[in-house]
Amino acid sequence: MNILISEVGPRDGLQNVSSIMPTTAKKAWIDAAFAAGIREIEVGSFVPAKLLPQLADTNEIVSYARQIEGLTVAALVPNSHGARNAINAGTHKITLPLSCSESHSIANLRRTHEQVLAEARSIANMIAELPAKSRPHFEGSLSTAFGCTIEGNVPEDKVIELAEALMEAGCDEVGLADTTGYANPTSVKELIKKIWGAVGQEALTGIHLHNTRGLGLANAYAALEVGLTTFDSSLGGLGGCPFAPGASGNLVTEDLVYMFEAMGISTGIDLESLFSVRRLVQESLPSEEFYGFAPEAGLPLGFSPTTPSLPNNQLAGSRS
Ligand SMILES: [Zn+2]
Repeated sequence: MNILISEVGPRDGLQNVSSIMPTTAKKAWIDAAFAAGIREIEVGSFVPAKLLPQLADTNEIVSYARQIEGLTVAALVPNSHGARNAINAGTHKITLPLSCSESHSIANLRRTHEQVLAEARSIANMIAELPAKSRPHFEGSLSTAFGCTIEGNVPEDKVIELAEALMEAGCDEVGLADTTGYANPTSVKELIKKIWGAVGQEALTGIHLHNTRGLGLANAYAALEVGLTTFDSSLGGLGGCPFAPGASGNLVTEDLVYMFEAMGISTGIDLESLFSVRRLVQESLPSEEFYGFAPEAGLPLGFSPTTPSLPNNQLAGSRS
């Protein structure tokens, strides 16, 4: 089984912290993460700099990360204008979030469902005009799919209807996102199966989980059992959770990789090197809280990871 860990810390993590990470530190993070075995990184978001000053250098970061052979460079776009910039910068994978709760969509993106779907159609048309080899992968992300802080319950039928609408609009794939940390292992399994029933298994391969109520790893395991293969997570669970002080926001990359490696599932990521990446990033964000159990406790005595370790843990020696 091939598992892909998509590191979203440079986007989802940094957009939710008050510190502004220097561009050089972001580049060092991306280099170190790739060296540790991470093969997909969401490096930023193409939003106006005045809205998210933490991500104002996304254009430069995409251009930089693109030079790393073998790395998929992903970015979020709120609309077709952002998508145009993302395409011009050479982003490999662009994600347009569609909040399944329409109140959340209006509050966050100031757009109704119909307006976001219109953006999706115009992005798909823009991509279709590009030469085949320079077309980015286009994902429509179903955010707040498991519930919303404004509307509460989000009906499954609404999520399925929107998944179908995104595919009809021309997305290559939809993604499932538990933006609010409302999912549980049963709801994860049921919703994946229902979406597969509507749009086909190849149209949903990944999930974006938050750990707001401590169920992040349990939900990831549930998604794995059903057959999803791509998991978003953030180094150190970086970003926190704005509506639950003390809780990590995203699933912690280190703990997720540790779980898979301990289960005999190869992630391609060297854990000790990943812990070194954590220390490196901590040095550039001294006032931010980092979460995670495995990196604090260390690996169990005699632990043998499924992914072979890098010789002499190259990163630990050269970077800190
Ligand atoms: Zn998120």
